[in-house]
Amino acid sequence: MPRIRFTLPEVKQRPDAPPSTCPRCGGVTFHKHGQVEKAIKGLYISRVTVVRYRCVACGRTLRRYPEGVDRHIQSKRLRALSALSWALGLSHRSVSNLLTALGSALSRMSSWRDVQEAGVGAMRALSGGLRARVEVVGADEAVVKLKGEKAVVGFVMDAERGRLLGIDLLVERDRAGFTEWLSGYVDKFGVKAIVSDDLNTYKPVVEELGLEHQICLAHVRKNVRRRLNEIEGWDWHKARIWLLLSELPEGGGAELMSMERNVREDAELRRLVVELSDKWRSLRRHKSARGLPETNNCTERMIGRSKIRYKTVRGYKSIEGMMNGLRLRQWVWSGEDGLCVGELVNA
Ligand SMILES: [Zn+2]
Repeated sequence: MPRIRFTLPEVKQRPDAPPSTCPRCGGVTFHKHGQVEKAIKGLYISRVTVVRYRCVACGRTLRRYPEGVDRHIQSKRLRALSALSWALGLSHRSVSNLLTALGSALSRMSSWRDVQEAGVGAMRALSGGLRARVEVVGADEAVVKLKGEKAVVGFVMDAERGRLLGIDLLVERDRAGFTEWLSGYVDKFGVKAIVSDDLNTYKPVVEELGLEHQICLAHVRKNVRRRLNEIEGWDWHKARIWLLLSELPEGGGAELMSMERNVREDAELRRLVVELSDKWRSLRRHKSARGLPETNNCTERMIGRSKIRYKTVRGYKSIEGMMNGLRLRQWVWSGEDGLCVGELVNA
């Protein structure tokens, strides 16, 4: 299980300094113009001071909040903590119980709202620093529950950098649905090649979009090994198929096609030979397409960690709520250098 390192935002009692520039006139000199007490929901701090300043040049007054406080009633630290707790696996009810125990009574609804805010922030953080052009992507899907129904969520990764490009709800797990999903990335990033798990749905889609396609070899080999083991006898043919799959020679597809005639007596072996022959090109595409990896490991590593945790969520009640939750979890479980959770509540 990966470790999560994080920092939470600080909360101070008073603002440290006047504003740096006036948003209306660009002035830099301010006079203090009174102060008010603000009641907040926070950890161990329930009141802070908000100072009003007046711009000397244009007379505009500005409110200055202390660090970690804004218009919300909850401090940024509390919002960040409740969203993080949920993303780490607690239910909204448990988040509410936890924070109530820590002296900051928070309703389940507030916890839900905090997750929504943090999810929007997570998407902002995830999409920051993406390259404008990404020619090779990895794609994968996960099944989640939405209002008790199964829903499919698609993930697209920058295969070279291992960064998430996007999470989308797929209305249909069919050709039209996949084409619509992936064409968005082709248009936006200039995608030219894709690596996916062994799933037939991708084949017509990549052909329609004119993409190079690599099927994840780790997946295929695992699957083929299992199927070969289940077939009795045929040792020479099985060894030959395994050798072809290990070496991936250019003529392997043709050899499998002619092998089909000799293995017709075993329906399962024949099916396997035909399937491999059909997808031969996509098995060895990485040999000629630059930058195309031979497995989809980058995508799986990325979503695998959070995918397990999707199952622990009892289900989502709305599409937007679900997407925000997924993005937040993705952000939390993919942060390698430590998470600055305050980033998510600094809109
Ligand atoms: Zn001004």
